[in-house]
Amino acid sequence: MSKIIDGKIISTAVKERVKNEVVELNKKGISVGLAVIIVGEDPASKVYVANKKKACEALGIISEEYALSENTTQEELLALIQKLNNSPKINGILCQLPLPSHLDEKLIINSIDPEKDVDAFHPVNVGKIMIGDYYFLPCTPAGVMEMLSFEGIEVEGKNCVVIGRSNIVGKPMNMLLLHKNGTVTICHSKTKNLVEICKNADILVAAVGRPNFVTADMVKDGAVVIDVGINRVDGKLCGDVMFDEVSKKASAITPVPGGVGPMTIAMLMQNTLTAAKKQNNLI
Ligand code: NDP
Repeated sequence: MSKIIDGKIISTAVKERVKNEVVELNKKGISVGLAVIIVGEDPASKVYVANKKKACEALGIISEEYALSENTTQEELLALIQKLNNSPKINGILCQLPLPSHLDEKLIINSIDPEKDVDAFHPVNVGKIMIGDYYFLPCTPAGVMEMLSFEGIEVEGKNCVVIGRSNIVGKPMNMLLLHKNGTVTICHSKTKNLVEICKNADILVAAVGRPNFVTADMVKDGAVVIDVGINRVDGKLCGDVMFDEVSKKASAITPVPGGVGPMTIAMLMQNTLTAAKKQNNLI
């Protein structure tokens, strides 16, 4: 049986660290503030936003929520972002995706000040990640790296395979593993011999969005398996990895729920703190 990498424990440690730093900043008269914008009534988005707000409150981060109606125009949303870009008490701005289809997601992301872009989706921040000169990392891949580091799992020289090439998970995940000197292979829906490639992985990251996609025959004995997937089957949460059989072969594995999920919010809190420090010339 493999070691279960517990995202609840590791995210609690990250949040504790953030909370202590927020207290120190407050003592210097510096507050930390996050603005979260949500447009429309998507139930999953509402849950994510509520969780972000709760995390802010627990860590002493001021949170402002802007719940806009489904019919909000592009001009109205851009005007709000502009206002928040200029607000000294807001250090981080997050626009919950997906946006309703009449809004241009790319334009909205590009209008957030890169210094306040705590999701690290702005092209300036994406470029910085590419060249390894970054202060924000997208929250989910950053959470995975934090888990590996917390567990003392060395990336250098390892064969790392990431299944998925999305802009928010797969691609930045690849870059972060590469920056840590992993030998990285990125796989996607057109990849040939996926099973063979995965079987060669010392560290296998699944970010596919398909329940139980990774089976035991795709995993090398003793591999570290990170399951980013969040899927719902018959109302029950499950990941991209067939946990029961893969956990018998892996040396360490993240569960779903309770694995990468809790890390994402913790890293958002960390990014908001980093933004406040950067904007106050403390880093
Ligand atoms: P996307 O749908 O954007 O990307 C999925 C990727 O998987 C694509 O690159 C796609 O390839 C690839 N893929 C799909 N089918 C196959 C296949 N048969 N073989 C190989 N590759 C395949 O999803 P996201 O990256 O946004 O999210 C991935 C998962 O992670 C989802 O379950 C999501 O809910 C979860 N997630 C979890 C988070 C957390 O906090 N834990 C945060 C963000 C996401 P192609 O590019 O060729 O289409």
